[in-house]
Amino acid sequence: MTTEIEHSPFAVEARGVHKSYGALQVLKGVDLTVRPGEVTAILGPSGSGKSTLLRTLNHLEKVDAGSIRVDGELVGYRQKGRKLHELKPKEILRQRSQIGFVFQNFNLFPHLTVLENVIEAPLSAQRRSRSEVESEALELLKRVGVGDKAHDYPRRLSGGQQQRVAIARALALRPKVILFDEPTSALDPELVGEVLEVIRRLARDGATLVIVTHEVGFAREVADTVVFMDGGVVVEQGSPAQVFDNPQHDRTRAFLSHVL
Ligand code: ADP
Ligand code: MG
Repeated sequence: MTTEIEHSPFAVEARGVHKSYGALQVLKGVDLTVRPGEVTAILGPSGSGKSTLLRTLNHLEKVDAGSIRVDGELVGYRQKGRKLHELKPKEILRQRSQIGFVFQNFNLFPHLTVLENVIEAPLSAQRRSRSEVESEALELLKRVGVGDKAHDYPRRLSGGQQQRVAIARALALRPKVILFDEPTSALDPELVGEVLEVIRRLARDGATLVIVTHEVGFAREVADTVVFMDGGVVVEQGSPAQVFDNPQHDRTRAFLSHVL
């Protein structure tokens, strides 16, 4: 058995996720559920495990315990000390290609043009036809406002343009969910707005998004659910109004007093 399809109402369903690096316990039993079409913003201090959590959803890290489903498919399932579930590399590639991931530092391939960056995974991991993938990629590049950069190399682009290419690259996978890890924190302040605008439009169009961000104003505007993490656990979650205007925990209040 390599996959289990369940009729989960969630696009993402993580239960009791634990992850350690050596003696360092980074995730200590995290639950996270995201409904299709919902935008979830994850906030929390540096080192609280936000990136690690995103990375487990996309097979970039294996969990030590807990279960993770993306679109009903089992991504990871372990019980402490006992391996219960191991996906085949091919299955991992297939699942990973259904999840978009946008990194803080763009992570474009420097030796490929913008267009080549966008078509690489749909061609290699999804084995779709080049003509279809290319015309879709050019459309996506236009949609994020860099249609004229298709044949340039990433280094010729500003940070904001590179991040918009990275978003087009994620969209080219026709993903079930897109994970963003602090997508604007490496950008000069004047370039933040153009990237947030692209994400805002995706949210409006009904995409399922999980966004780690420190942009409280943005999270308040686009998120259906705000999740506050600290010390490897979800401390509280709720609507933006609940979490930002009426936080229930001291740790949330302390964090918000620094970022607001
Ligand atoms: P956040 O994204 O909330 O800042 P991270 O998930 O990046 O937090 O990191 C949580 C903790 O795990 C930090 O203490 C970090 O140093 C540690 N960590 C992250 N990745 C690794 C790794 N590959 N090896 C060892 N420690 C790691
Ligand atoms: Mg991080």
